[in-house]
Amino acid sequence: MHILVTGAAGFLGSHLTDWLLREGHTVIGVDNLCTGTCENLAHLAAEPRFRFFEWDICRRFPPDFDPGRLDYVFNFASPASPPEYLRLAIATLSVGSAGTQNMVELAESHGAKFLHASTSECYGDPLQHPQSEDYWGNVNPIGPRSVYDESKRFSEALVMAYHRTRGVDTRMVRIFNTYGPRLNPSDGRAVSNFIMQALRGEPLTVYGDGRQTRSFCYVDDLIEGIIRLARSDEHLPVNIGNPRECTILECARAVLEVTGSKSELRFEALPQDDPIRRQPDISKARRLLGWEPRVELREGLARSLDFFRSKLSAAK
Ligand code: UDP
Repeated sequence: MHILVTGAAGFLGSHLTDWLLREGHTVIGVDNLCTGTCENLAHLAAEPRFRFFEWDICRRFPPDFDPGRLDYVFNFASPASPPEYLRLAIATLSVGSAGTQNMVELAESHGAKFLHASTSECYGDPLQHPQSEDYWGNVNPIGPRSVYDESKRFSEALVMAYHRTRGVDTRMVRIFNTYGPRLNPSDGRAVSNFIMQALRGEPLTVYGDGRQTRSFCYVDDLIEGIIRLARSDEHLPVNIGNPRECTILECARAVLEVTGSKSELRFEALPQDDPIRRQPDISKARRLLGWEPRVELREGLARSLDFFRSKLSAAK
């Protein structure tokens, strides 16, 4: 297949691109590099089935950019870590609205399938636990996180509208917290912060009392689930994530264990509207895709260490 991946220089976009290339497809990666980095694609420099185009998908492609035949568009472009989408608030809203509309229309005009990367943030600070796809969420529409949550909720509405009214062949994945190599070591997420802090021997910054929960999925598991969804005929959202819920304190302790670090924990203020609990109900993915994650947290952290160590030595 001929595939276009937006957000290809990002954490998930670059892993997805690798997976698609391994399966023998031809991939055009598009990214404006606002949070992604070409380092994530550097190993593809000599890959003849891959080409990269630096572009902001909120703008229509220029006339001299011809993607040629397209069979699938994977829409992964968006800032995604809390500090980054707060910094890029307007850009985050734009990419979920204008950017996504441009890409779904690109898919439509090429007769291509379209898979949209949505998020567990659609559930906000959830009142239903664990979160299944039929839960509508509990989102503050004007809080700091709203730029991301509402952008993604709008893009879900947009994708469904193109599917229902124009027959575009769409898919939608709700992605839960994911970690692994290429998670930006400086974008302020829990796993990347903790690992970098542990490797540097600095205190691990736990926000609030650390009893809030997340459910962390190793990147290879996540991408496999997404590929299975892409091959399915499901148009409604599907949760892909690891149902093993853990507190942020447990996560910090797991990082200390895996790195062998003697760092202390330092408690800091909990950011506004930080969800208290988050755990995917993945019954639908199990039933429909025969998928479930396999990599346990400590194993996934261990597999990620080389990447973060290399970032540490590069920064010295
Ligand atoms: N967190 C933390 N210390 C950090 C970074 C994050 O305690 O250095 C907490 C954060 O408040 C949240 C959880 O870890 O409760 C996950 O945060 P992350 O930014 O990774 O993703 P989120 O799920 O909030 O989008």
